[in-house]
Amino acid sequence: MRYFILFILLFISVYIFAQSRPKIHFKAVLIDTHNDVLSSSVLEGNDISHRINTGQSDLDRWKEGGVDVQFFSVWTGDTPRNKEGFFKDANQEIDSLEFLILRNPGRIVPGYTFHDVIAGIRQKKFVALIGVEGGHMIEGDMNKLDSLYKRGMRYMTLTWNNSNSWATSAMDETLHADSLQHKGLTDFGRQVVRRMNELGVIVDLSHTGEQTFYDAIATTTKPVLLSHSSVWNICPVFRNVKDGQIRAVAKNGGVICINFYSGFLDSNFAKKMDELEGTRGKQIKDSLKQFYDAAKMNEIWRQYFSAELEPYRPSISKLVDHIDYIVKLVGDDYVGIGSDFDGVSSVPVGLDDVTKYPLITEELIKRGYSKKSIKKILGGNVLRVMKANFK
Ligand SMILES: [Zn+2]
Repeated sequence: MRYFILFILLFISVYIFAQSRPKIHFKAVLIDTHNDVLSSSVLEGNDISHRINTGQSDLDRWKEGGVDVQFFSVWTGDTPRNKEGFFKDANQEIDSLEFLILRNPGRIVPGYTFHDVIAGIRQKKFVALIGVEGGHMIEGDMNKLDSLYKRGMRYMTLTWNNSNSWATSAMDETLHADSLQHKGLTDFGRQVVRRMNELGVIVDLSHTGEQTFYDAIATTTKPVLLSHSSVWNICPVFRNVKDGQIRAVAKNGGVICINFYSGFLDSNFAKKMDELEGTRGKQIKDSLKQFYDAAKMNEIWRQYFSAELEPYRPSISKLVDHIDYIVKLVGDDYVGIGSDFDGVSSVPVGLDDVTKYPLITEELIKRGYSKKSIKKILGGNVLRVMKANFK
């Protein structure tokens, strides 16, 4: 009898383990179109060749999460890190990815062509691609666009939160509309899009303002990508996409990859954040200032801030609502995964790092998604967009 109970317990635990690691997840090609580990960790000197106890990503953990292809975001903010400027920042980050690849021969392969990507997947290697997040890194110079392409850039996000001389951002178009010199793409901006099409660099429209989005969609001859954006109708924040935009992407044959950031997934989380960043936060900070120096005050504030937000973190089910929404609006060919891991301060409960993608697949299975649909969502749709763009 005792053995029988033990057997039953063993059976139950194997069953639960198998459920949490759905087979289809590891059979399917998983592509994540946005990860910020280069700027947030690798540039700081962390070696992500093996499991580390900081951040959300490293090679061992990607393997555990079943990730086959990763776009590494090359990001710099509106003030350059190097005195030489944004272009130098981008090159330095690409160097850091090249060093990671050199340190891990046989494990990572760079994806320069569509053939490289497919070959890497077949050989069960981890395929690394470069996405440059922000057109400001070409510094208004077409030669620098060509140069970044030669170094491996395979998508470029036309803007980050900052606008540049040829494209306006979602942040500026919505929050600073009065101070804009122009709105949307300039003539040079259209030339940039056309040159990207010629080179085989995917036009990424995450972060762009609506005007830039529609100008770019009207200019490009290739399918576009939104590498890390979620649905405005579920969580109405400036970084998310509206129904008209989702329909336009479907018409263009592009793909929208869902961002995991709690503040883009859940409107209650976003509201709470606004509250903390607004008058209430200012009051708290002012009172802290009377007792502590700036460093201590910031530390206390950060702890308080995340503790206050913790109960508002969404569930994985909420994330899948965003996928579901796009599927119900335009079908299952236009949605993918663009986590923004290592670039965001909060993700859904349980989705702590890159080992947790199987939980999304599990939720899709629970909702009755077919294997065919799941394969498209996890990577098939992005593969189609890569094929249409790359050489
Ligand atoms: Zn971003």
